[in-house]
Amino acid sequence: MAEVLVYVDHVDGAVRKPTLELLTLARRVGEPVAVALGAGAEATAAVLAEHGAVKVLTADAPEFAEYLVVPKVDALQAAYEAVSPAAVLVPSSAEGKEIAARLAVRIGSGIITDAVDLEAGDEGPVATQSAFAASFTTKSRVSKGTPVITVKPNSAAVEAAPAAGTVEALTVSFGALATGTKITGRTPRESTGRPELTEAAIVVSGGRGVNGAENFHVIEELADSLGAAVGASRAAVDAGWYPHSNQVGQTGKSVSPQLYIASGISGAIQHRAGMQTSKTIVAINKDAEAPIFDLVDYGVVGDLFAVVPQLTEQIKVRKG
Ligand SMILES: Cc1cc2nc3c(=O)[nH]c(=O)nc-3n(C[C@H](O)[C@H](O)[C@H](O)COP(=O)(O)OP(=O)(O)OC[C@H]3O[C@@H](n4cnc5c(N)ncnc54)[C@H](O)[C@@H]3O)c2cc1C
Repeated sequence: MAEVLVYVDHVDGAVRKPTLELLTLARRVGEPVAVALGAGAEATAAVLAEHGAVKVLTADAPEFAEYLVVPKVDALQAAYEAVSPAAVLVPSSAEGKEIAARLAVRIGSGIITDAVDLEAGDEGPVATQSAFAASFTTKSRVSKGTPVITVKPNSAAVEAAPAAGTVEALTVSFGALATGTKITGRTPRESTGRPELTEAAIVVSGGRGVNGAENFHVIEELADSLGAAVGASRAAVDAGWYPHSNQVGQTGKSVSPQLYIASGISGAIQHRAGMQTSKTIVAINKDAEAPIFDLVDYGVVGDLFAVVPQLTEQIKVRKG
């Protein structure tokens, strides 16, 4: 069976969920060979093996931490040359897309970005993309070279599929461009203690109806009672009530959690584009005609300041 390279997104050896989702998709088109780079690369092997990696190619060097993406592209290209894979899959983060694009240019291949699904096809993997605020679903395949495909988070379920996960050291020689852009400083984001928005199983979002930054604690308290991430509509973000990094939608983040709770959000198409694939959708809105009610599984017509605190209270009671 052909091998498929999977680029591993990890933090000091802790593999992030979108990579495990990629392994699920990679198994549909071949045998996953993971490429883990930087500090902690070898520590990723156990979890990658549990989720189907037959091999884990690892490399560590100061260049990965000290410079922007080019050293990683050099390493992924080295893996590509060593394996001659049927496809290369990369998580659709900003960094992932840059790495994938640079690799595709170098190896003369076509690239598909932001896929939301992947299946095997007679002439190579077929990727599904969701276009124009999810108004269209397209299916495409790369017709030149080895398909390089970036996949959005939450596009597949994480599945256990134990495989050998044999660790092999990858030999990488960095090109002249590798040290072209040096990282001059890092400021860690202040942790909220909440899960990452795109990876969370539950997302609780607030919109213009929250009516001020000072009221967002109502949304946060519900999120915390559920162990959820907090999202926001663009209206709330543009008003400065919540950080841009929490925006859900066409120009924000795409989420696809098990449960999405929208409070004081009307359900504009651009917001829906980022959340309509959520498994269960609940909306709280005082306007019974709000378009969000067209796509919900459960809707509450009411004032969020009356409904949300009661919901939080009940969840706390039931959780004991
Ligand atoms: C190119 C482009 C890209 C965009 N990208 C995004 C995007 O990524 N994400 C995004 O969200 N938007 C995006 N938008 C904006 C989008 O069109 C809407 O303007 C926005 O989503 C509206 O946010 P909202 O639902 O919070 O506000 P509104 O549409 O004003 O809705 C507020 C809702 O709150 C309800 N409400 C008010 N008070 C209460 C209360 N006390 N209790 C309960 N309900 C209450 C109201 O009934 C109303 O339905 C984009 C627009 C454009 C043109």
